[in-house]
Amino acid sequence: MLKKLFLIMMAFLITFTGVNWVEGVFSPDIEQKPRQFQTDPNHFTIEFFPTAPHYVGDTLSVRVTYSGQDEIANREISLFSGEELETPLARTQFSGFTQQAVFYWVLDTTKMDPGFVTFFFEVSEMGESWSKGLHLLPRPTHRQAEWAVVHTSCCTVHYLTETDAEADIKDIITILEDRTAVAIAQFFPDDDQAHLMLDEPLPIVLVPIVVGHGGFASNEAVLTYSKRNWAGIGLDILSHHEIVHVIDRQINPVDPRPSLFVEGVAVYLAGGHYREGDALLRAAALFDLGLYLPIDGIVNDFYAAQHEIGYMQAAALVAYLVEIWGWDTFVNFYFNLPDGPSDLAIINAALEDEFNTDLATLEADFITYLKTFTPDEEVKEDVRLTIEVYDTIRRYQTIAIPSAHFRTAWWPSISHMRDRGIVGDYAWREKAPFNIIIENLFLEIHTEFDRGNYSLIEKNLVLINSFLDAVEPEKTPLSHYVIGWPLPGVPRLLTQP
Ligand SMILES: [Zn+2]
Repeated sequence: MLKKLFLIMMAFLITFTGVNWVEGVFSPDIEQKPRQFQTDPNHFTIEFFPTAPHYVGDTLSVRVTYSGQDEIANREISLFSGEELETPLARTQFSGFTQQAVFYWVLDTTKMDPGFVTFFFEVSEMGESWSKGLHLLPRPTHRQAEWAVVHTSCCTVHYLTETDAEADIKDIITILEDRTAVAIAQFFPDDDQAHLMLDEPLPIVLVPIVVGHGGFASNEAVLTYSKRNWAGIGLDILSHHEIVHVIDRQINPVDPRPSLFVEGVAVYLAGGHYREGDALLRAAALFDLGLYLPIDGIVNDFYAAQHEIGYMQAAALVAYLVEIWGWDTFVNFYFNLPDGPSDLAIINAALEDEFNTDLATLEADFITYLKTFTPDEEVKEDVRLTIEVYDTIRRYQTIAIPSAHFRTAWWPSISHMRDRGIVGDYAWREKAPFNIIIENLFLEIHTEFDRGNYSLIEKNLVLINSFLDAVEPEKTPLSHYVIGWPLPGVPRLLTQP
């Protein structure tokens, strides 16, 4: 009887207290709670790259941005995919600087089937977990782009096959060789053997998409080359600007290079920013238009200043210094700046040391000099509209393609991609009709700048901004339906939904 009572009690214990009889011992129930993944995480934004539409064959990257108040630096984030929730696909840490965690090329979809792909994210130290996915479309049969390379006397030029760059590569090489020779001669005007000073050919990459303003440089100069380059910068000026950056970095890889001078030198030597134009005359126009920015307010966070104004003023300041000091003295000054806590402190220390002056005094003289110029209405209109156009381009990028805006750009290392044979992040991709409509208007604007047709530029700017106003409110779809499907050359009645 006692034995029977004991067995009943045991059965009760096992059934209702959650303990398991395992190999003769009691052990606590270690059944794991299923993980809870929210669909809408707190303060985390997820972006997948390449940007949508995604296709079988893409090698996907994921960027997670934290916007909450907690300390996120060095917190670990795990990424799981599909059914595999025990072992993460990858782990990485948040950067305290960018508040971002990036999983580069974490999932190769080549052998996957089309369909919905779900990713699960977990920041266990914060008790946060969530899921997010994307639609993987069938692999397009006609797209075979891959990296190709051509070695010229000046440069190693990488480009993607099946792009405009491939079709025009001979003309491109001529432009790059010319511009590199000019840039080197500008740095070393008295030296016939200057080209020998460069350690190796300049690495240049041509991509068919617009990232930032159409070009950027790290250890390679990356340039947009497309017949539909809606950022509107020609290869000649753009390549010259980025080549100057690369040469600049090769000559002086160590000492401080304040952004004010880095960009000033590039714009000055390229002969203009987006188009050719006299730096001093354009800065004088800024002054007349009331748009001039005091240099002590922009020097320490140069890239946060209004982009076109900062670049125009920087180029004009370099032009002014070259006029009063001569090129050799300027370049000697620029390449031998002392270390310091900020760009302003660095420049001031060097000015004090070399010329017994400071940036404020120098700027006062610079402004006095600018006032001796009298830019005509055409230059002023060009300067004013250039600023408005690129503000509008950046507004379009922020709303429609944040991965192209220079502050939030997706520009992973191209040399890593070449090593792994990955092209998707920079290859040509489909655009929605909304993008085509807006980008067509920008393309018209850039053509009209060359003709001086400022009224049409103004008209297109109003139109683009009205379209952006229509889609800007949160949760309004970025759709050609929302803006009335205004395809050029197509009667409106036929195309409205
Ligand atoms: Zn630059």
